[in-house]
Amino acid sequence: MRHARILKALLLIAFSIGATASAAPTLKGRAVWASPREAGATEATVVAYVEQLAKAHVNTLIMELKTSAGIFWPSERFAPAVVPEYKAFDVPAVLIRECHKRGIAFHVWFFDFAEGGSSYVAQQHPEWLALGPEGKPSTAEVLRGQPYRMAWMCPARRPGYTDQWLIPIIQEFAERYDVDAIHHDYVRYPGDLAPDTYCFCDYCLEQIPRYASYYSTTHPDDPLLGRFDRPHLEAHWETSPKVLPPNWKDYSREMKSRLLLEGSFFPGGNRDLDYFFYEYRVHQVTAFTREVFEAVRKVKPRMEFSAAVFKNPVQSGRFIGQDWRQFAPWVQYVMPMDYRSHFGGDFETHLDLLAESIQQQKTWARDFAHFWPGVAAYQLYDEEREPLTRIRGLFRDGGKDVEGVRAAFEAVAPRLRTYAPDLHAALEAWLKDPKSPEAAAKLDAFLANVPEGYYPAERLTRTLERVRAQGVEGAVIFSSGGITSAKLWKAVEEFFGK
Ligand SMILES: [Zn+2]
Repeated sequence: MRHARILKALLLIAFSIGATASAAPTLKGRAVWASPREAGATEATVVAYVEQLAKAHVNTLIMELKTSAGIFWPSERFAPAVVPEYKAFDVPAVLIRECHKRGIAFHVWFFDFAEGGSSYVAQQHPEWLALGPEGKPSTAEVLRGQPYRMAWMCPARRPGYTDQWLIPIIQEFAERYDVDAIHHDYVRYPGDLAPDTYCFCDYCLEQIPRYASYYSTTHPDDPLLGRFDRPHLEAHWETSPKVLPPNWKDYSREMKSRLLLEGSFFPGGNRDLDYFFYEYRVHQVTAFTREVFEAVRKVKPRMEFSAAVFKNPVQSGRFIGQDWRQFAPWVQYVMPMDYRSHFGGDFETHLDLLAESIQQQKTWARDFAHFWPGVAAYQLYDEEREPLTRIRGLFRDGGKDVEGVRAAFEAVAPRLRTYAPDLHAALEAWLKDPKSPEAAAKLDAFLANVPEGYYPAERLTRTLERVRAQGVEGAVIFSSGGITSAKLWKAVEEFFGK
């Protein structure tokens, strides 16, 4: 009895010593989103890059290897789409080897439905592009005065981009490399353009009416109306009456698109056909996550999937066809992009909204094995960066707006005095004498290599602490390049190590 009590006490002491001595990081998932350019294109640069990740306790690397520019591995089957610098050096092979040596999981990140306007596939297969009601692709759009560069592809068309290009590319990567998960991004319709514009390609103009049963294929001309015996018009929907007008085939593309988006299920009834349009888009995006899961599991039976998604699936279902709650059977890691730019208000307000959002997301994510919210490090420093980029713009305009420069300078002067006294002095001198030539060059040099401390690390730490305080399993930081340029690795190391 006495022995047992002593033994128990000793065990307790040993346990508590052990617990303090080797406290494991509290977050199980410690991830970064990254671009291959950050890892360089030699063995030595890749090793140094992965060393940095390991030092900062990162245990999951999410590396983009299919972007709007092309693919970043030396594929033979998709050779024309390979980004030229990555034809000779097999960056994924070296990255995966070095990550696994250090216990870091590797997720390969794909831009799903966003291609570049000049990308190989967009050029070769214009018939696979998503089209607006006027029959034009997204590259015909102008956004904030600039030509829109991304070519959005139609997720629905079969045969098309999804089954002829995207899924085979993902499958090839899965077969070829010892990767831990496939990461979806841009798994949606475009959101920065008019959210109701896509897709009205020929395929979708035919498929939306089929999908929503706007006519019967066996009795295409039958109105299929039941008895109208109730006072409410929409109460008579169950017989799936024919919705398309008799002369549907004579409608132009614009007329068809307008009816599919703005029309009514019953003539004279609510303008409710938009519901089916949005539902169709959600279905197409979700169907893709299932199809790619099934295709990849055929060649790699244990492959997992992760996805970068928008913060609110109820809203993103309507606006971009991304109701990610429905991805759960086909995606194991859900990673909402809870970036500061996705919330209104100042930094402090954003922290409250972030916490509120994560609490909602926990409910939406309950069917996923893993829920790891993501934050964007670089965006936390808009207050410190924006006045300086504004001054740079004013200098490029010839420096005529002295008052504009003064106002921007005043917003950051105290931090500059501490972290870049040279630049502070040069800008002050310029304000006294706008002919002083030094300021512009000093500013460019500063922005190219911002000194440690100028971007307050505590802002990243507080954001990550707020994420962790919501009781999440993991967190993802966008991006390793942003961490490097804002000199935040020490802050990441401290946070992830806790
Ligand atoms: Zn389409």
